[in-house]
Amino acid sequence: MKLPLFDYAAPATLAEAIALLAASGGTAKALAGGQSLLPTMAFRLAMPTLLVDLRRLAGLDRITLGEDGVRLGAKVRWRDIEDDTRLRTAHPLLAAAITHVAHYQIRNRGTVGGNLAHADPAAEMPGVAVACDAELVLTGSKGTRVVRSADFFLGPLTTALADDELIVEVRLPAWPAARRWGFEEFAQRRGDFAVAGIAAFYDADARGVAGNTHIAVIGACHRPHRLAGAEAALNGHMVDEQVIVAAAKVAAAEVDPPADLHASAEYRRALVGTLLERALIRASR
Ligand SMILES: Cc1cc2nc3c(=O)[nH]c(=O)nc-3n(C[C@H](O)[C@H](O)[C@H](O)COP(=O)(O)OP(=O)(O)OC[C@H]3O[C@@H](n4cnc5c(N)ncnc54)[C@H](O)[C@@H]3O)c2cc1C
Repeated sequence: MKLPLFDYAAPATLAEAIALLAASGGTAKALAGGQSLLPTMAFRLAMPTLLVDLRRLAGLDRITLGEDGVRLGAKVRWRDIEDDTRLRTAHPLLAAAITHVAHYQIRNRGTVGGNLAHADPAAEMPGVAVACDAELVLTGSKGTRVVRSADFFLGPLTTALADDELIVEVRLPAWPAARRWGFEEFAQRRGDFAVAGIAAFYDADARGVAGNTHIAVIGACHRPHRLAGAEAALNGHMVDEQVIVAAAKVAAAEVDPPADLHASAEYRRALVGTLLERALIRASR
């Protein structure tokens, strides 16, 4: 399908990009990898009058590892994450989740910032961000603000971004080497969006008792969110088969999945339990 008509700009600085977005009064859109925006335009679900291409903006494509964790610039592509072998130990949950994103050609262009801004409830990165309490750094004409990922995703394709704001960075808190984790998803074909998915981790003490459990769901929800009941079912317990089965039951009961042409709500609910079981079995090994 052909795209609707639009104007195009490729500003050289972040300030120029923001000025263009602000001047449009909400009718302009940032263009990153184009992997979500262009299909959306082709289907006439979005008809921006101006595309503000971010490709010339410097400094947004860095992956930085520090004591405070991992920082991903908004223009970091899935492929950059895959290729950065440091992340396999610095953030194994992120590295594992990204292998489920789309296909190679899409991973070669799609960016972290574009993915978070698009806010598909079935996308992996928003689930990782919410599971890890990541912070998003947003810059707009009123300045820069830092937003918790739990407050960023408001609903399907809906975020806390203002019309003139850009995501510039995502900050994932430091990841202890001994942390137990699992990422599981079910998609109809490899590379498709998840019908449901689970990102989970906990820290075990010397006796193997779980604490600081974080579990986030994707796909079986209107926005990625943590499963407080399932987390509570793990905290303070040795993670054995009985505890895993109990936590999975709680997780299935606490989601409110949508039904669509890919799966019924009940199927997604059952999947959440199964995927959490699998993630926790992997984590507890
Ligand atoms: C066939 C197919 C399969 C896919 N499968 C998956 C999948 O399994 N899992 C998954 O997670 N994704 C999947 N995707 C989406 C893919 O990961 C996209 O790359 C991603 O969602 C958007 O990133 P992008 O850089 O292409 O953003 P774009 O398409 O350029 O932009 C998307 C939106 O984000 C906005 N935007 C872009 N950058 C910024 C920024 N820095 N600040 C603020 N707003 C910004 C744009 O204005 C637009 O509204 C798939 C895509 C396709 C085409």
